[in-house]
Amino acid sequence: MWMFDERHGALSWFPSGRILRRPCAIEVSSKRVSKGESQGGGSTVQGARVPALCEVPASKGGRKRRASRSRTLPPAPEDRTLDYAASRDELHDIEPGEIVLAVERLEGFREVVRPALKAADAARLSPRPGEKKRRGRLPSFHALDYWRLEMLRRVIASHSTQHTRDWLTTDKAARTRELLNFHERRAHYGGKAKRWMDGVPSDGWMSDFRTKWMPESELAGLMEQLERRALAEKMATLPEMREECRILHADGSKLETHATPPHLKKNKAGEVIGIANKWKKGRDGKRVPAITAPEAGFVPNSKGNNADHSGAGWNIIMVMSSKGTVLAHHNVPLHASESGTLAEMVPEVGQVLGTLGEPELRVLTTDGAFHSHETRRALRDVGIVENTHLSSHSKRESSKRKATERNKKRYSIAGYPDWFATGHRELVCRCERGKTTRVAGLDPRGRAVARLKGECAECGSILITSGLWRLSGEKFVKCLPSERSSEGELDFGNPLTFHDELAKEYGCQRFNGQEGAFGSQFTQRWKLLKSKRWFYRQTQVNLEVAAVVTITHALSLERWRRMGATGDDVAEADGGVGAGGGGLALAA
Ligand SMILES: [Zn+2]
Repeated sequence: MWMFDERHGALSWFPSGRILRRPCAIEVSSKRVSKGESQGGGSTVQGARVPALCEVPASKGGRKRRASRSRTLPPAPEDRTLDYAASRDELHDIEPGEIVLAVERLEGFREVVRPALKAADAARLSPRPGEKKRRGRLPSFHALDYWRLEMLRRVIASHSTQHTRDWLTTDKAARTRELLNFHERRAHYGGKAKRWMDGVPSDGWMSDFRTKWMPESELAGLMEQLERRALAEKMATLPEMREECRILHADGSKLETHATPPHLKKNKAGEVIGIANKWKKGRDGKRVPAITAPEAGFVPNSKGNNADHSGAGWNIIMVMSSKGTVLAHHNVPLHASESGTLAEMVPEVGQVLGTLGEPELRVLTTDGAFHSHETRRALRDVGIVENTHLSSHSKRESSKRKATERNKKRYSIAGYPDWFATGHRELVCRCERGKTTRVAGLDPRGRAVARLKGECAECGSILITSGLWRLSGEKFVKCLPSERSSEGELDFGNPLTFHDELAKEYGCQRFNGQEGAFGSQFTQRWKLLKSKRWFYRQTQVNLEVAAVVTITHALSLERWRRMGATGDDVAEADGGVGAGGGGLALAA
């Protein structure tokens, strides 16, 4: 646990159990906790809220029980910079070649990828059928060269091997050529010697290797394993992960393809009854198969007002931490339901968060497209309160109108004649002077419990527990125990309502953190989601997304390593991570 250490006058890492007195948080400038003032003992955190020690009044019965801080709603964090952003001091001059090597420094690379590359090399050297011994010259390029060029292509956000090779010939690539061992002339048989490229595998060699020795599906499988292991390594290494993962975001972004997905024909009940574009007219007038990307999805731009969500391709749905760590992602056809996909992803998110030790109450912010009671229920089960609203906060006229309608709407509440619920499921009393408070916590099984409390001097008080009420006509009534899991409305009683200040702060965070990561990183920097591309297969998409996410994890770890190398005493903090405890003790 991070604590203020009196002896050293700085923020220090303590193994849990050493703290005898209760911390209370005070804000101090980053200067006061600078490294100069810590004398050996502890590590320092810049700009953090530093808990100072204050005495706990002794209670009559000895030790006073206090609810753990981690079981209340987290405050909206102040630092929203992505830890893998190029603007970070440690990363601003990193060479593409260094990023490729950072990926090779991952544990997952050593354990999963390197053995697979060795196996591919061994297979190339083994005798063909009918041979006793492999004939011919030894190859000049190896599986590692294939991997490095493939990885470099993602790092420099190039969409083809040819473009990557062109980039390698430029002056700015000199250091990368050297780092990746592409600068040394390899044994070259036949043809004329080339000045720049004799250390770089050719387009033909890459294509040959791809078809014969490491097919796309195998590479995609390796990349996905590497991504998961890199995430695990990041979660276990960086001490700030626990704090960072208290506030999560989910969103989808489309990855469009030029290829043709099936246009599904549906009946009125919404069941698929056929494919509308199975055939097309070829150049010679005869009909030819039209579908080139059978696994992609298609959403029509009906009436021209669905430009944001329509198109052909995939929807990449990601759950991220407040600093843009991708905890889970699913690459689904564009027409798949966003809320349904998120509900499927929740167990995986729960598993990832489980690696951080004892459960904490967390918040996940999404837009209205993710609203469904199944998703909300799934999230509550893993200790997450969802911050999802029925109305959009956008400034469009239609959204504003709908939000105003919900403001005016009143539902009565059984047993509370003086209290009403608005269309946003917020509580208002008859005199409208009542106040509401947020109540949230974890039950003993680690599930999130959310309550909304209303108090008014005239109208009395009310406590609504989310999930125990259902809407019957124009009235909210209590569920019977048997109805709770199927009919309980989880948005009624959730304290993070449409007009709630804290909910707004989390939402603001979504625009900076999540959409920031989607926009500045996944679209602009890695060009993963930018413009249409030629994607035909699901494995192709899985490979691209996994590669980019792996690079972000590798960059975070590389930054951490560099912070250690520049003298900040960070290596020591590693030891205590995962030991549980509350991370930074913050005042809620
Ligand atoms: Zn009142």
